[in-house]
Amino acid sequence: MPHDPVYPFDDERDFADAERGFIAALTPGVVRNAVGQVIWDNDSYSFLAGDAPDTVDPSLWRQSALCAKQGLFEVTEGIYQVRGLDLSNVSFVEGDTGVIVIDPLISVECAAAALGLYWKHRGTRPVTGVIYTHSHADHFGGVKGVISQAEVDAGVPVIAPEGFLEAAVSENVYAGPAMARRAGYMYGAVLPRGPRAGVGAGLGQTTSLGTVSLIVPTMDITATGQELTVDGVRMVFQLAPGTEAPAEMHFLFPGRRALCMAENATHTLHNILTLRGAVVRDPHSWARYLTEAIELFGGQADVVFASHHWPTWGRERALEFVGLQRDLYAYLHDQTMRMLNQGYTGAEIAEQFELPPALQRAWHAHGYYGSVSHNVKAIYQRYLGWYDGNPARLWPHPPREAAKRYVAFMGGADAVVDKARASYQEGDLRWAAQVLDHVVFAEPGHQAGRALLAEVLEQLGFGAENGTWRNAFLSGALELRSGNFGTPATPGSADVLAVLPPELFFDALAIQVNGPAAWDLDLAIGWVFPDHGATFRTTLRNGVFSYVRDRSGDVTLTITVPRPALGALATGDLGAAAAAGLTLDGDAAAVQQFLGVLQPGNPAFNIVEP
Ligand SMILES: [Zn+2]
Repeated sequence: MPHDPVYPFDDERDFADAERGFIAALTPGVVRNAVGQVIWDNDSYSFLAGDAPDTVDPSLWRQSALCAKQGLFEVTEGIYQVRGLDLSNVSFVEGDTGVIVIDPLISVECAAAALGLYWKHRGTRPVTGVIYTHSHADHFGGVKGVISQAEVDAGVPVIAPEGFLEAAVSENVYAGPAMARRAGYMYGAVLPRGPRAGVGAGLGQTTSLGTVSLIVPTMDITATGQELTVDGVRMVFQLAPGTEAPAEMHFLFPGRRALCMAENATHTLHNILTLRGAVVRDPHSWARYLTEAIELFGGQADVVFASHHWPTWGRERALEFVGLQRDLYAYLHDQTMRMLNQGYTGAEIAEQFELPPALQRAWHAHGYYGSVSHNVKAIYQRYLGWYDGNPARLWPHPPREAAKRYVAFMGGADAVVDKARASYQEGDLRWAAQVLDHVVFAEPGHQAGRALLAEVLEQLGFGAENGTWRNAFLSGALELRSGNFGTPATPGSADVLAVLPPELFFDALAIQVNGPAAWDLDLAIGWVFPDHGATFRTTLRNGVFSYVRDRSGDVTLTITVPRPALGALATGDLGAAAAAGLTLDGDAAAVQQFLGVLQPGNPAFNIVEP
């Protein structure tokens, strides 16, 4: 941190807000799946009470204590939330005959438990609508815990912003394996819980580990100002694409004077680029849509709520909250651009970047999930890319080769470890981590180097205000000490893969083609997707898999893929795909040749060592 942090501990309003409207908790605060495995354990965070221990940043400790509050809460008359039963919140809006569910969490089991808690205290009402605020899995994955496909087929609407489906399935397809492995570091899923380990991820505590489902939306919101009345509840929508998610929307309940801001105004500085890796988001659009929300809805809401954290009550406070969130993203964007145009690089901007005093004093503008440091670098990356323009840095050796040379120049691994220990003792943890990284990459078996790097990373974690930084540092320390923990949770579920459009399915296959192994293949295959009413002709040549829709032509094999077989085939499992109804007509060897050159992602690639 370049400056002493401002921690406004005298402002305790969040504690009142996080407890306001409390009705009841789920007891015990544990959710299990059908075979009894624990997929969510909020009680494991019960240590988050009292003053922060010296192994947790006091601001993160405070945030985690707030996020760990679990139960059913009243937002306003007729609107309820269950918080603390997953990374995200689920909201319930009571209609004339039943209840509309907003954002049914990540896991079917957690969503069912949340609905059960709601029913227990508000009466068993049928679900008369579902709304997905945006395309991230923590906002749709539990949908089959609150409603069935049959109920949707019978007419219960599932409402989502335009572009939802494509965005929901694509993010987890293209870079899925790498993101999932890195997400293990970011969310700290394998860290034990406790003051020396996982305390929370800033946005919520962590991700649940149950069954991820998806029901395709039946009603798209396509324009700002669009209105819908569902079960007697009137809603006015604002589209906010290209913000926190590619497809996202805000909406007002005029009859309840309540505004849902999806995930664009929460009690943290969010991510312009998450540590798990993603396409860089657009802070300029983000700020612009928050401005528009204030203009459209500002005078009409007495409470603003989101699908993470707690609501903010009072017209003035709600406006101030959304306004400061807008200022936060706009300031990050505009000032990064100003400094970038002065010639500073991302790391240099991050080092000197300071938020205005009013934002430093607003707890919700603090970086518990995103950080000023990594967001500023992301904005530089969005506009100018990885290269900082200095040709001495245009063609460096990759990490391992560079590490060997650094360590040799600095007098060998033992000497570097001794010097790093002195830096560590002087408190320069960042430098100690930087040079010990070279030791571990030059000589992965150097035990003193590994042990000291683990200790340094652990101390960096203990000092981090940001939950995802803490998780990353502590996960790196854990792997240095006890080895690669792989990928704790994979995002692609059968339900999600089954709704892949054929084009996305082909894209998923194309990026698995091992180019050099496929250089000599020349294959032409016809494809029939009866559930999509679509046919394709694909070719594989020069290691490139290409597809054209509705094109006949010479093929040696035609493959018919009913929807249930898509998921298995997308992962290269022909046996499972055949069991799910896939049929072949023609030269079956062609598909074997094709599948033979597919290389799926490696769920256990190394991160903290070569
Ligand atoms: Zn979310």
